[in-house]
Order: sequence, then structure tokens, then C-alpha cells
Amino acid sequence: MSEKTKQMKELIRNSHNLVVFSGAGLSAESGIPTYRGAGGLWSKYDPSKYADIQYFNQDPSYYWRFFKEERYPVIKAARPNKAHEAMVRLEQQGTLFQVITQNIDGLHQEAGQRKVCELHGNTRRIICLECNRSYHMDEVYRGLEKILPPLCSCGGLLKPDVVLFGEPLPQEALNTAWQATRECDTFLVVGSSLVVNPAAQIPLLAKQNGSLLLIINIDTTPLDEMADLVIHCPASEVLMEI
Ligand SMILES: [Zn+2]
Repeated sequence: MSEKTKQMKELIRNSHNLVVFSGAGLSAESGIPTYRGAGGLWSKYDPSKYADIQYFNQDPSYYWRFFKEERYPVIKAARPNKAHEAMVRLEQQGTLFQVITQNIDGLHQEAGQRKVCELHGNTRRIICLECNRSYHMDEVYRGLEKILPPLCSCGGLLKPDVVLFGEPLPQEALNTAWQATRECDTFLVVGSSLVVNPAAQIPLLAKQNGSLLLIINIDTTPLDEMADLVIHCPASEVLMEI
């Protein structure tokens, strides 16, 4: 175990109110690629189309073809990794009281995490834009052979319950995130480059409120300099030791 990992372990062990803030790097370790370029993974779908609300309203079938061919198979096959599992244990021990995530894959919950606040929604949930009824992605996927885009039993258009470009973040999730951030004594960033707002602002608030700021991320982040401890490494390698 490296010196820094030992320090990280000590700081987390001494924490009473730990908040974890997770991002795409954590999901990447479960085999979920980020947007084209970042993961180097070729995709025949363009994120500026499938992840954009204006484009979704214009041509919803584009998203649903992407969902059928690329997103669903990847999410379906992905399994929580050692870092997700370590966070579940920290929650069970009473140290970790809130996970705030930018990820939309639901892997924290799949691992058994109870308190998860999803800033960008969850791809496994599909909602009707007319009556707000919620479906599981498996159910919608099975119906995709027959009709595109999929429709609710009420006839309304279905949309993944995720925040697309051009949409506001869900207010309730934001409120939960801000409150947890104000209450924590240790704020641990896991697999986020902290470049997309409010991703950069939430850890900043933690620090301003006197919390420790710890970062585990492969790349450098804009908040590295003000953090109390930074490890540039895959999250699972560090967290399985903790
Ligand atoms: Zn409906």
C-alpha cells in the first residue's frame, strides 16, 4: 500500500460524516465508456444528438436507436466494481452518509448503496412525458422491436429519466447534494475531473465549509491544489485497500 493510500485510509477512517462525489471515471472501471474521444471508443451515434434535449424533441427515434444498439447492452452488462463495493461497506459502517453521483448507470444502487443522490438521473428509469408513469429499461427495451420511438400505455412519448444537454438538473437532487455537502466533515471525490458545473462547485462548497477535500481521479482536476489529499489512480485500486 502506498504512503498516500495509507493517509487516505486514515483520513476516511477518522471521518464521521463522509460524502462521496462520483463521476464517469468510476463507471469507466465497470466498462462504461464516456463520450466518444474520452474513452477512445468508437460509436456510430453522435452525443451532440442523442444527449441533447432539442434533438430529442425533434427526432426521438435517434435516441432510442442509440439506446437499443449501444447504451442498453453496455448498461445491462456492467457490474459494480470494487470501488462501488467499498462505498457500500463504508455506508454500512455508518461513516458514509451520502453518495452524490453524476453517473446515470445506477451502479451504486446495484452494488447495494442506499443513499444515492443522482444529479443527472438514471438511464434504467424511463418516464412518460405525458402522464409521468415510470418504466424499467428492460420493459421498454423488449418493446423496441415493434415501435420506435416507444410510447406509454397512455400514448405519450417515453424519455429516459436522465438530464440531457439543455435541461436543468433536478432541483430535489441538487438540494440533497448541497445539504449533504454542508453537513459533511470529509468530502471524497471519486472518478470525476470536476470540470462540468455544478461538479466543480459542490466540492468547493465542502472545502469552504471546513470539510476535508480528498480526490481520487486518474487525471488532474482544477481543485487538486486546494485538496487535502489527491491520488491520481483508478478508484478501485485505492478504495479496495480502504
Ligand atoms: Zn403515459
